[in-house]
Amino acid sequence: MKIKVARCAGFCFGVKRAINIAEKALDELKGEDKIYSLGPIIHNPQVVDRLLKNGLHVVSDLEKIKGGAVIISSHGAPLDTIEGIKKKGVRLIDAVCPFVKYAQRIVKDLKKDGYEIIIVGDSAHPEVRALKSIAGKNKRSKKLGIISQTTQNKENYINEIKKILGRDFSEVKIFNTICNDTSKRQSAARRLLKNCDLMIVIGGKNSANTKRLWQICKESGVDSFHIETELEMSKNWFNGKKCVGITSGASTPDSMVKKIIERIRRF
Ligand code: SF4
Repeated sequence: MKIKVARCAGFCFGVKRAINIAEKALDELKGEDKIYSLGPIIHNPQVVDRLLKNGLHVVSDLEKIKGGAVIISSHGAPLDTIEGIKKKGVRLIDAVCPFVKYAQRIVKDLKKDGYEIIIVGDSAHPEVRALKSIAGKNKRSKKLGIISQTTQNKENYINEIKKILGRDFSEVKIFNTICNDTSKRQSAARRLLKNCDLMIVIGGKNSANTKRLWQICKESGVDSFHIETELEMSKNWFNGKKCVGITSGASTPDSMVKKIIERIRRF
């Protein structure tokens, strides 16, 4: 049985950057001040556990923050959250991915120019909640501005755009805000699907981009499993398979990809 790893696996640029920022801050403020993140800093429980051991405090609401500093995750945070942090007088550490910031700038400009803003993505995801807070209350308009969550599946986005264009409009601006890493990762997975009869998708069960990769794999008809660690695999998944493809979400470390390959080899 062959094992093929997608060309684009392991941490993406934005996640790597956010982890570096968090580790640097934890190192600098060690023992002096607490460092918080509102919710997990990235959507990978194993990596977050490591940061917790190094002193990060993950809290669910602002009330639990008592001085120190707060890291804004790679996904960004809603405006009222940022305001709340500032009011508390604690230090803000910005780890927002530049691709997410680019989408935020577009929403700001569309709002300024009076467009009705349509965001295609998971409404409960922190990135989309942040974008919605910038868009504010949308007024019905014939001028439409359409943008996507950075980790959307391109096909989904195109289908949603087609539906939106069924509306009455005088002007429409469409932005491709799907980040480079997401596009490359999805294309690499599609290439693997052509040659493999089993796909393993590695990444947090709470990671939007990993779930989309898994959705792409499942929709292709190839047997596919979404796992976080090597311990979730079962030997019988590989019975009679000729080629297993491996892909991973943007917040999956290379070390986890390696562990999974090693376990498959042992099987
Ligand atoms: S998936 Fe894209 S947008 Fe999200 S953190 Fe990574 S590089 Fe940034």
